[in-house]
Amino acid sequence: MPPPPAVLTAAATRLRRTLLEWYDRAKRTLPWRATPGVAADPWAVLVSEIMLQQTTVATVQARFDPFLARFPTPAAMAEAALDDVLHAWQGLGYYRRARGLHACARTIVHGHAGQVPDESEALAKLPGIGPYTAAAVAAIAFGQQVVPVDGNVARVLARLIAHDRPLSATKAELWPYAAALAGGDRPGDLAQALMELGALVCTPRQPACGICPWAFACRARAEGRATALPVKVAKRSRPERRAVAMLIRDDRGRLCLRRRPEDGLLGGLIELPAVDPGELPPGDWQALPGTVRHVFTHFSLETTVVTGRPVEALGDAFFHPADRLHELALPTLTRKLLRHAGVAA
Ligand code: SF4
Repeated sequence: MPPPPAVLTAAATRLRRTLLEWYDRAKRTLPWRATPGVAADPWAVLVSEIMLQQTTVATVQARFDPFLARFPTPAAMAEAALDDVLHAWQGLGYYRRARGLHACARTIVHGHAGQVPDESEALAKLPGIGPYTAAAVAAIAFGQQVVPVDGNVARVLARLIAHDRPLSATKAELWPYAAALAGGDRPGDLAQALMELGALVCTPRQPACGICPWAFACRARAEGRATALPVKVAKRSRPERRAVAMLIRDDRGRLCLRRRPEDGLLGGLIELPAVDPGELPPGDWQALPGTVRHVFTHFSLETTVVTGRPVEALGDAFFHPADRLHELALPTLTRKLLRHAGVAA
């Protein structure tokens, strides 16, 4: 049984001090982190936290500054068309977040006079903002005494207290432990330090307990179970699906494209028309050699590209100049398919 959260409260001062000392020595310089002594920009913190939810630090690092330069304030994003936001989001994946961020910017402008709210309860009511992001922004941008629990932090806490049930169903049970750690005069740094500890030291497969500032208190380490925790659940294998994408050009060489439905996978993005194998409409199709494989969260997709024209025009499609594809928000899969067909995208 893990200890009650009160055990952490008793050790909290030492845990905070050792963690912050380590953070001051070891933290990475990242574009969204405020320079020491400079107040963090709440909008920049909010954008970075949303980007980092499902995208690696390396990918976000390359895209954060240009994105923020394009949308430096909630007002700048609220004025922009959703297509512009989706376009700027390219390469970050999980476009639902970009749509949520756009709606969030509009709510901040219309409901909060353009200022990011400074309370985690108000933040959590914004579109696209869950409890984790609300707590992260409240702590990092506004110095509130909250410790957000993301995947990295959950892993560290689970090991610290030897929580021995799968996190998928029990992550919420770690929030009281995180709350027990809150306090001190650097709540924003504490939140970031804990995330950084999970990213750099208490990593999923090879926790570096030998250099960990929390080794003195860690139950998983004391019990020799650091790599065994958090408890893993057997992963279900990803189903394999197949599709056929159609590369159709009109007489002017323009490419036939379509917009995906707003709700659902890659909602609102532009793609090559595609169908299940066996549902290809009549036409003079030629299959290109090879296939394109793409892995989504819940399935893998193997796509064959055919060129030609259908006998009847496709209902929901439009034609766009092939040399102006950079104007469109294209998901990674569509870019792969176009490259496979020799079209620069
Ligand atoms: S001692 Fe090891 S398992 Fe425990 S928090 Fe540190 S790195 Fe993680």
